[in-house]
Amino acid sequence: MINISPPLDGAAPTVAALTRALFGEQLESHHEPWRKLFGTEPFRFREGLSPGERAALSYERLRLINEALDSPEDLVADVERLTALHEWVGPVDAGLGTVASIHYNLFLGSLLDHTSGPDRDLGEFTTLRRTGTFLCTEAGHGNSAVQLETTAVYDPATREFVLHTPHPAARKFMPNTSPVGGPKTAVVAARLIADGKDRGVFLFLTPLGDENGVPTPGVRIRSLPQTATAPVDHCITSFDHVRLPYEALLQSDHGRLTPEGDFTSSVGSPRKRFLRSIGRVTPGKLCMSGYSLGVTRHALAVAVRHAHTRRTSGVTAGGSVPLFAHRSHHTPLVDAIATTYAATFLHRDAVRQWARATESEQENAERFAAVAKGWITWRAREVMTECRERCGAQGLFLANGIAGQLAANEGTITAEGDNLVIWVKAAGEMLLGHFTPEERGDAPPESHDLGDPLFLQELLADIERVWHQRARARLRGAAAGNPLNRWNAAVTPALELVDAHAHRRAAQALLDAAAGTAHPEARRQLTLLHQLFALRRVAAHSGDLLAEGYLTGEHVRRLPDAAESVVDALAPEAMILTEGFAALDETLLDHPINRPEACEGMLPPH
Ligand SMILES: Cc1cc2nc3c(=O)[nH]c(=O)nc-3n(C[C@H](O)[C@H](O)[C@H](O)COP(=O)(O)OP(=O)(O)OC[C@H]3O[C@@H](n4cnc5c(N)ncnc54)[C@H](O)[C@@H]3O)c2cc1C
Repeated sequence: MINISPPLDGAAPTVAALTRALFGEQLESHHEPWRKLFGTEPFRFREGLSPGERAALSYERLRLINEALDSPEDLVADVERLTALHEWVGPVDAGLGTVASIHYNLFLGSLLDHTSGPDRDLGEFTTLRRTGTFLCTEAGHGNSAVQLETTAVYDPATREFVLHTPHPAARKFMPNTSPVGGPKTAVVAARLIADGKDRGVFLFLTPLGDENGVPTPGVRIRSLPQTATAPVDHCITSFDHVRLPYEALLQSDHGRLTPEGDFTSSVGSPRKRFLRSIGRVTPGKLCMSGYSLGVTRHALAVAVRHAHTRRTSGVTAGGSVPLFAHRSHHTPLVDAIATTYAATFLHRDAVRQWARATESEQENAERFAAVAKGWITWRAREVMTECRERCGAQGLFLANGIAGQLAANEGTITAEGDNLVIWVKAAGEMLLGHFTPEERGDAPPESHDLGDPLFLQELLADIERVWHQRARARLRGAAAGNPLNRWNAAVTPALELVDAHAHRRAAQALLDAAAGTAHPEARRQLTLLHQLFALRRVAAHSGDLLAEGYLTGEHVRRLPDAAESVVDALAPEAMILTEGFAALDETLLDHPINRPEACEGMLPPH
């Protein structure tokens, strides 16, 4: 039987080394402050609240975040700090994650990124006297938001814009514009019409209502039906000839307007102007990844801990064993740990690349952020679903920190760029020259061992190459003429290429983290995680790898046992690996699943 008791004896240095590997030098500066804040009493789970009460509570808590900040502007300007906040907020309050992300990143970030035009006093937003919202999506234009139809017509005589929703399909869809949480101001994406010409989509600063909850004249806000995701005051919002001052336009190089109505832009294409206007959506993708990772690590910490404390029958009559003693129970959890470590390191790479990108590197960094966001938020869904199930019915209670966060993760999959759509875009770019398969070594496959991490990385690159070739061949072979038909011929293998790319990069990031860890035991465990993660992927594509001569038949036969051996080696370390996540102790200990007496309290009286 697997030795799991007591799992953490003498392991503190390993746990500390794993935590350091996961959070790096920024552990103390970027992560600890949020761990401390969210461990305090106001962030404890409250049973019995309605969705509306939960939404209101999220805004109260947003004020506590804001009070903890020296400078909201500095937070917004530093994507590494901003995404770190997202990594810790989800386990305590998923809705708080949503409203914080919108206020700081989409709203304040947009204001700060638009550096031209008249000076603006941001005091009421940085002190949260008014909460910021971001209105881009329209009922008729979600992923096609580039075609949005709200207009802002400039009138140089009065030096005002007239913001207008031309028809119901142009109403702004989803943003949290209700009076819940106090007065709000939006940045509204609308077509700038100046001198009778459509200049493309720009952002307009628009107060939505006053301190008493009375909407600004001409602004109409209706609550949307309740969602199954984080409880947030999602609304549908429209504008009936709302007059805004000249200063409302957020200006930058990509669009400047003089008070007299003369328009200039450094960007020719309206599509690019739109993308520049909503540029905050790229850090937003990194924020969504951060949210997903935080809740995934927390869910795994809950599930692995539960697996070590909950007892069940063994294979012989009588007696009992911890759930974790069963291979059927610990294998999916160990796999989930490997995926989650890989996902965290992939995220670190994506954030670093975005933060340090020069202008010429920005396009690559944006694509990488999109690929990573899709991969991480989808993996989060899988891992949290596994955690929910491994906790049995306990996994369903909101108070246990898994089910609500899993539902809220659906929001990260759709918001800030729908995963499938941003992967389709990345796939197109990778096919059309923004990707070159890795060079291959000459050594024959039989000279390699499945335990060699470099061989495994080579195989992951081979999977990329296979799908790249397939997608290109289908694109080349497709009948000319209808561009959508041609793209449809190639998109399925092209999406496989994106997936293969994300897997290889995630595995590489995990391997690099192992190599960069000085502590021998932590390095050993990270290397094993890499091996398991890579073996699963290689096994799933072993047919292609064999057919192309990258693997031998003997390798393929050995794959299942190779993975079993790694699971064997990693299972005793599962608690250490999840302790390395440094999950919020106060929140963990507060979950009824970790407090048998609390579970008693959950039962109705006889
Ligand atoms: C929790 C949450 C919070 C949000 N907050 C905000 C906010 O603050 N501000 C805001 O402006 N918006 C917000 N949104 C809206 C969000 O931006 C949109 O939901 C998103 O852009 C997708 O649009 P849609 O829902 O209309 O889906 P659709 O565009 O209708 O897409 C539905 C599906 O169709 C497919 N599809 C669509 N277009 C294509 C295409 N071109 N190619 C291939 N397949 C396609 C995709 O599979 C997609 O999943 C929020 C959404 C959520 C879930």
